[in-house]
Amino acid sequence: MLSESGTAGGTAEVEETAEPVRDRDRLVQELIEVGRDAVGRGLVLASGGNLSVRISDDAFVVTASGTWLDRLTAEDFAVVTLADDETGAPVQGGPKPSSEWKLHHRAYRVRPDIECVIHLHPRQAVVLASIGREIRLLTLDHAYYLKSIGVTPFFHNGTDELADSAAAELREHDCVVMRHHGCSVVADSVSMAYRRALNLEDAAQATALALQLGDTSTRFPDDAHHA
Ligand SMILES: [Zn+2]
Repeated sequence: MLSESGTAGGTAEVEETAEPVRDRDRLVQELIEVGRDAVGRGLVLASGGNLSVRISDDAFVVTASGTWLDRLTAEDFAVVTLADDETGAPVQGGPKPSSEWKLHHRAYRVRPDIECVIHLHPRQAVVLASIGREIRLLTLDHAYYLKSIGVTPFFHNGTDELADSAAAELREHDCVVMRHHGCSVVADSVSMAYRRALNLEDAAQATALALQLGDTSTRFPDDAHHA
């Protein structure tokens, strides 16, 4: 809440805090809405996928093990600390985190600038990456929201290899597609992360359409970035 401590006509001084203000309840509600919308759009099925958001500089909440993203409640989020590399033990007596918690943990570790990680199983993006086809950026929105897309080989669910290979790509990209599995998309807000995830699947659909029409090379013109 803003305080009115400045004197009339004076310059209001803003106190700088090291950590941004994070409203955990509001952020969890945003993730609940993202989960419902993502399932409605077919970007993930059944209990696949998981969502997380930072609640402090050194902790995040992630969807609990076995949750369905279109049925989330505020109780379905487990707290995990960045200091905990291995156990994923829930803190504060909450539920057990998703088996994919390391994917989120490693992402927050390598990207101190991000606040949200969205992991979904978008079909067309995963199919293109799995068959070795590049997902091309074709529209202004693709170029703006995605910028670039990383791809990782297949590793089994919940492994260090999966989490570490995705994190390595996240050093260079905000969107990573893990072959034969899903995507990991990051941003400095829940809303931006979800817009990126939607644009990733849109770029994959557009690429698939272009391929069906016989086009194998067109991409968004770089010089239009500043038009
Ligand atoms: Zn997954």
